[in-house]
Amino acid sequence: MSTPSKSIAILGGGISGLTCALRLAQAGHRVTIFEGSDQLGGLGTFFEHAGRTFEKFYHCTLPSDGPLLRTLEALGIRDEVYWRPTTFAYAHAGKFFPLNTAVDLLKFAPLRFLDRIRVGITGLVGRLVSDKGLDDVTTVSWLTQLSGKNAFAKFWKPMLEAKFGDRYHDVPALWFWTRFNREKGESKGEQKGYIRGGYKRITDTFAEVITRHGGQIHLNTTVTGIDLDAEGRTTVTTSTGASAFDQMVITLPTPQVEKLIGPAMKAKMPALDTSTDYQGVINHLLFLKRPLTSHYWVATPQSEHPFDGVVETSTLTDVADRGARHVVYLTKYLHRSDSRFAQPDADVRRDWTAALQKLFPDLTANDIEADYIFRAPFVEPIYRLGQKKLCPPEELVPGTVFLANTAQVYPIVTSWNGSVSQAEKTLAAMGVKVEASQAKSSVQAASKTSKVAMTPAVA
Ligand SMILES: Cc1cc2nc3c(=O)[nH]c(=O)nc-3n(C[C@H](O)[C@H](O)[C@H](O)COP(=O)(O)OP(=O)(O)OC[C@H]3O[C@@H](n4cnc5c(N)ncnc54)[C@H](O)[C@@H]3O)c2cc1C
Repeated sequence: MSTPSKSIAILGGGISGLTCALRLAQAGHRVTIFEGSDQLGGLGTFFEHAGRTFEKFYHCTLPSDGPLLRTLEALGIRDEVYWRPTTFAYAHAGKFFPLNTAVDLLKFAPLRFLDRIRVGITGLVGRLVSDKGLDDVTTVSWLTQLSGKNAFAKFWKPMLEAKFGDRYHDVPALWFWTRFNREKGESKGEQKGYIRGGYKRITDTFAEVITRHGGQIHLNTTVTGIDLDAEGRTTVTTSTGASAFDQMVITLPTPQVEKLIGPAMKAKMPALDTSTDYQGVINHLLFLKRPLTSHYWVATPQSEHPFDGVVETSTLTDVADRGARHVVYLTKYLHRSDSRFAQPDADVRRDWTAALQKLFPDLTANDIEADYIFRAPFVEPIYRLGQKKLCPPEELVPGTVFLANTAQVYPIVTSWNGSVSQAEKTLAAMGVKVEASQAKSSVQAASKTSKVAMTPAVA
């Protein structure tokens, strides 16, 4: 190692924090992770049910997730990822319409024939045009121009609302373009990947390798303050006291960072953009004794459903990872201030189960082995026009305080892959280069492929 070993505090033990800690520890630095909860993995964290672990929020990887897959390779578990073809369907008026090929789209009865053609053209154009200038055009105007007003109102708008609520108006077309190309970037048809042993396998391996390189991991250790001391070193305050480090990497969502920053640090750093807010999410997870559909994802964006999607992850995961049960996540993006976000679990359980039974009238209470409800308040930044300029910098205080969080991931999709990509940019700003057998970034990989099949990938 050419640079001297530094002590570095990593705030947050999600995938961003773990990636930074791994690479810094491998580069010979002394890292300490501070994680407020009792687990590593952040939004990809898990719980136990009947002797197995499951993600609290559905998670999968895509073949175009180059930086993430490269990291799994560095951890020695890349070969543990298995892949399956997966499909998408759209629920409308009690029917399920598969939307995976151009023929599916031509048969998509909820839209007039002309609108189906225009949605198809939108897919083709989205695949062929470059992303240049799309940060300054709204998704609304871009999609309306390509698909027409009617198709926008009936098809795209409900899916945008499903993701961003009533704040979808300002979301740049670049977000849509990237998302669309990420999920449709495979010439072999849609494929998703999962890892043997679940996402816990990934975080456990990170922990093992980081610890082997001398890193320290403090769980149940919420950071309550950060600042600079008189010598310009960073200080981290937790319930057990304060400690000083040469450097710090912050990986918490921006709204959670601002309130921690002390006056000396604040005086030395650029103002963080506080105007980028986050959507939260509720997931109602059901373990079923029978499958619902053969689709990984059924979009249910119409307002009659309390959730926006039915994600049947057991269409992807091996029996060894879930037992004989079928695993379904009902998902709803909501702002944390929305009264529905704080609805008691019993009400969510009652209302969402009833709505699911309306969609699947054969589903009985006996088919449900167990269910769980999970919420996360800070998941998806709510993007606005010109978002690229709003993304905070990697270096907050020169040479000392660095940031690697979801507010910077744009326009890459908010995902483990996006966080690894961002962490690598932050590491580069710290002078640590990630070895490059370099798989392509998700955006590059996606933009070079040319599958014509057309399905929406907003939810
Ligand atoms: C419903 C849902 C579905 C998703 N599906 C996928 C998917 O299929 N594929 C995919 O790749 N991605 C998916 N994601 C997105 C992915 O999980 C996130 O983008 C990613 O986990 C963000 O990682 P992060 O480390 O940047 O942030 P986080 O995971 O939010 O980690 C931040 C960490 O900081 C900790 N923390 C917060 N405050 C403090 C404090 N004061 N002190 C100490 N610690 C603190 C938190 O406990 C947390 O562990 C999904 C997310 C959700 C919610």
